[in-house]
Amino acid sequence: KPFPIFLTSKVIEGFGRGGKQLGIPTANMTEDVVNSVLQSAPNGIYFGLAKTEFEKKVRPMVMSLGWNPYFKNEKLSGEVHIIHNYQSDFYGTQLKVVILGFIRPEADFVDIETLVAEIQRDIDFCLKAVDKEDYKKYFHDKLLSH
Ligand code: ADP
Ligand code: MG
Repeated sequence: KPFPIFLTSKVIEGFGRGGKQLGIPTANMTEDVVNSVLQSAPNGIYFGLAKTEFEKKVRPMVMSLGWNPYFKNEKLSGEVHIIHNYQSDFYGTQLKVVILGFIRPEADFVDIETLVAEIQRDIDFCLKAVDKEDYKKYFHDKLLSH
C-alpha cells in the first residue's frame, strides 16, 4: 500500500468550474505535485488530512486525482476539498496534505445533483475514517506542520 502519501503544493487557480457554487470548493495543486502522486496512486477519489499555512489546525479532506474532463482529459488535476467552511480564498498559499486511503474511482459524469450527493458521501466516509485509531495519529504528524 502506498499510504500515507505526504504532499506539499502551492494552491493554484483551477478551471473555474464552479466548485464554490456547488458548495464544494477545491484547492488545486500544481502539476508537478499531481504527477508525482500518480507515480504511486491511481486516478480516483481519496481521503486524508490537510493543513493550510495560516491555521494551526489539521483538517479532514477529500481529494480527486485524475484527468480533467473539462480539458478533454488532456490535463491532469489534483484537487483538495478541505472539510471546513472558510471565510475567504487562499490562492497562492502553501497546502500540506497526507493522503490516507482510496475511496472510489472517478465517477462518469452524471448530473449535478448526483455528483454533489456522491461527494457528500465521500465526505461522510472521510469523517468516519479519520476518526479511526489507525488514522488519528496523523492529526499530530510533524510532516503536516509548517
Ligand atoms: P478553482 O477552479 O480556482 O479551484 P474553486 O471553486 O474550486 O475554484 O475554489 C477553490 C478555492 O476556494 C481554493 O483555491 C481556496 O482558495 C478556496 N477555498 C475556500 N474554502 C475551501 C475549502 N473548504 N477547501 C478548498 N478550497 C477552499
Ligand atoms: Mg478547484
